[in-house]
Amino acid sequence: MSDNELNLKAKEAASRAYAPYSNFRVGCALITTSGNIYTGCNVENASYGLTICAERNAIANAINEEGIIEIAKLVVYTPTPNPTPPCGACRQVIHEFGDPEIMSYCDGSQSKKHSSSELLPHAFKLKNS
Ligand SMILES: [Zn+2]
Repeated sequence: MSDNELNLKAKEAASRAYAPYSNFRVGCALITTSGNIYTGCNVENASYGLTICAERNAIANAINEEGIIEIAKLVVYTPTPNPTPPCGACRQVIHEFGDPEIMSYCDGSQSKKHSSSELLPHAFKLKNS
C-alpha cells in the first residue's frame, strides 16, 4: 500500500475522531510487518488527561487483532496547514513496537518523513539490551 493510500486511511480515521474540546481531529494508519493495516483516531475526554491520541489507538487496535506487533510504517494525518509529527507520549509507545518510518501528512501539500529513532533519540527502555 502506498504512502498516499495510507494517508487516505488516516484521514478517514480522523473523520471519526471524538474531539469536542480541541476540534483537532487526528487520524493514524499503520502497517505491521505482517502486512496488516490498522487505523485509529483521537478520543478526547472531559478530564483532558484521559485523552488518547490516534497513534496510540491505532497501535492498541493492532495489538488487539494481532498480539505482539512490529510496526513497519506509521502515517499520521492532522487537519493543519503543516505536517505535525506524533507527540512525545506516542513516540515512546511507537518505539516499543519497532523503529518504523513515520510519515506526517496534513491539509497542506507538505509531508514529513522520519524514523522513530530520529523522532525519539535515547528512548526509554526498561531493559538496556
Ligand atoms: Zn500522541
